[in-house]
Amino acid sequence: MKSPGAVVDLARELIRRPSVTPDDAGCQALIAARLRPAGFRIESHRFGDVDNLLALHGDQRPSLVFVGHTDVVPPGDESQWRHPPFAAVCEGDRLYGRGAADMKGAVAAMVVALEQFVDQHPDHRGCVALMLTSDEEGEAVDGIRRLMPAIAGKHQFDYAVVGEPSSHKNLADTVRIGRRGSLHVHVTVHGKQGHVAYPHLADNPIFSAARLITGLARTQWDQGNADFPPTSFQVSQISAGTGAANVIPGMAQFQGNFRYSPESTPASLQARFEVVAQATQVNITTDWQLSGEPFYASDKQWRNKISRVIQETTGHLPEMNTAGGTSDGRFLAPTGTQVVELGPVNATIHQTNEWVSQKDLGLLTRLYMAIMESVLC
Ligand SMILES: [Zn+2]
Repeated sequence: MKSPGAVVDLARELIRRPSVTPDDAGCQALIAARLRPAGFRIESHRFGDVDNLLALHGDQRPSLVFVGHTDVVPPGDESQWRHPPFAAVCEGDRLYGRGAADMKGAVAAMVVALEQFVDQHPDHRGCVALMLTSDEEGEAVDGIRRLMPAIAGKHQFDYAVVGEPSSHKNLADTVRIGRRGSLHVHVTVHGKQGHVAYPHLADNPIFSAARLITGLARTQWDQGNADFPPTSFQVSQISAGTGAANVIPGMAQFQGNFRYSPESTPASLQARFEVVAQATQVNITTDWQLSGEPFYASDKQWRNKISRVIQETTGHLPEMNTAGGTSDGRFLAPTGTQVVELGPVNATIHQTNEWVSQKDLGLLTRLYMAIMESVLC
């Protein structure tokens, strides 16, 4: 059994490595050097400037992977910090440093929990794994997005726990069980330029755009489901005009964004968009961009397991929701993985004086350990 300080010690070692995206600064080498002697198979996948690490123990199903990142956002003006951002200073219960909460604390908890788990359950069933990247806070191009297709056919994960800071006030008060998808569309509405005094000789694209936008705003895309609100469509920008007061312009443009529930797909939204465009008789060209698929842990048993573990460990049932921004969970979910996000309190992430509770790191280690036991024992 590790000492209670093991997770804090490792978190401090990681914080002392100034791994601003995409520089891993030796964090993954340190972790590999701990997990290899514990019996894990280590795979390093470097794409461009980005280090990715996969550590695996066992090779059967069910498979459970912990997902995290070793990169951090820049500290900003270091003179504004109470303690230097990469010094990893402890003060009372607080461990200060860039990445303490997002997410080196959680990565340390994962590593220590994995070590304890394989030590106590060397003959566990299935497979337990750790997946790390150094490109989550940046463009996220050469990280998990590229790792997943690179390992397809070789590794398949049934369950994933992403250690992003999901908690609000107290550790594990909130678990993220999904995220809405995001689909952008850039619309060009074609008309015919002319003199405002001779509208019968022109075709005003601003009127056409207004008809189309009204039609889109009135459309009910889906009803959502128990875990997701209905899909929403918003217009974020609109532009048209030549600058002259007496000219009907030849075209208008606008940008829209769908935040969509899993009850819709990019293809279904696009098809219904076209139906509205035809019904409102507008001549348009569109440019679509999918920026993120929704992810959604639909497996109720898995969600109940997480709830139960949290209640047994903290005494409280978590709230499960689909709020929040992006995470690397979006790259695992399309392969059929049931993804949840469970990590430290997010109050100070990306801020000056980022900190994490040392007590919470101990608790988080126990939570991760208990999740492994519930799936693999
Ligand atoms: Zn993060």
